[in-house]
Amino acid sequence: MNAQDITVPQADLGAAYRAQKDAIDAAVSRVLNSGWYILGQEGAAFEAEYAAWLAAGGDAPAMHAVGCANGTDAIALVLRGLGIGPGCTVATVSHTAVATVAAIEMTGATPLLIDIDPKTFCIDPAELLEAIRNPPPGLPPIRAVIPVHIYGHACDMDAILGPCREAGIAVVEDVAQAHGGRLNGRMLGTIGDAAAFSLYPTKNLGALGDAGITATPDAQLAKRMSAIRQYGWHKRYISDEVGVNTRLDEIQAAILRVRLPLLDQGNARRREIAAAYDAALANSPFAVPYRAPGVEHVFHQYVVRVPNREAVMERLRALGVMTAIHYPVPVHEQGAYTGRVATGPSGCVETSRAAREVMSLPVFPEMTDAQLEKVCSALRML
Ligand SMILES: *Cc1c(COP(=O)(O)O)cnc(C)c1O
Repeated sequence: MNAQDITVPQADLGAAYRAQKDAIDAAVSRVLNSGWYILGQEGAAFEAEYAAWLAAGGDAPAMHAVGCANGTDAIALVLRGLGIGPGCTVATVSHTAVATVAAIEMTGATPLLIDIDPKTFCIDPAELLEAIRNPPPGLPPIRAVIPVHIYGHACDMDAILGPCREAGIAVVEDVAQAHGGRLNGRMLGTIGDAAAFSLYPTKNLGALGDAGITATPDAQLAKRMSAIRQYGWHKRYISDEVGVNTRLDEIQAAILRVRLPLLDQGNARRREIAAAYDAALANSPFAVPYRAPGVEHVFHQYVVRVPNREAVMERLRALGVMTAIHYPVPVHEQGAYTGRVATGPSGCVETSRAAREVMSLPVFPEMTDAQLEKVCSALRML
């Protein structure tokens, strides 16, 4: 097939599986033959390997990781572990996967949606500070903040941590899109009080089904989370506190153990693709993704702002390049939330603008050089 005929998908999960087929098949077979399918040796080994990987390099503290069923549950599990629920407000952004907000409400807490910095698409620390100083009337006290490292770009953690520590507010990183990303050399997910990662198949580190993991430097919190994830059991069949069921299965853990050692090289390939897009867009009217100082971006998505988005997406499709929108409607404008969930003092104006303009180009580590060249030449025609 020649280059004109190929269509470049926005993501290609099958390519990732095929690239690792032998190792993944062997891992799955090992679990199937073991006779143990949920919360066993594979899960425990993956948790230990993930915690060690998080703490390696930079000046991160020793970490503890607790696996669970998916990324949404991981956020809720951290909040429950911190004792956050009814009577608490949790601040986050509206420019995120709806999962972040759904997880807050799963615990019974009240979400407060803060606007984003239009350059990074991450939570605006100035507005967060304003909401901490002058909480919106009628809301319970703010007990936690969830900065979302959206698209693989770190939030401005220095500006967030100071005021939160001062006010006794927990900081829970949503790292669902930023496994392996760094800020000033420090691995994301090791900076706040705790972190939640989705391991959904599309993420930078993805299972072949649902999975999630939490991480924290706090051993007590980790212990509490591992009890809560299974009915509140500290001892089998004995619930000392109220728990839920959000367990990690052994097949997914075994697959993730194959993939974790490949994550850094996958992220490096994502950055290579991003650099090629930067160059291809250099003379276009579209701004390339901003990288704040000290940020090591992992390009879960490569996102450009395009005012005439529908026309550009159609033109790229005609040129054989598929794109996506993350996300077309902000959480506070979706039917389940609108008019009900509180927004910060600015009313999420930048969030709404971003939702109208963002477009995600194809990024996946298995993208071939021919596919990459195809996207770049299409971008040069815009
Ligand atoms: C994917 C995602 C989640 C939720 O993860 P699931 O595994 O789908 O439950 C949460 N937050 C963000 C930012 C995500 O991208």
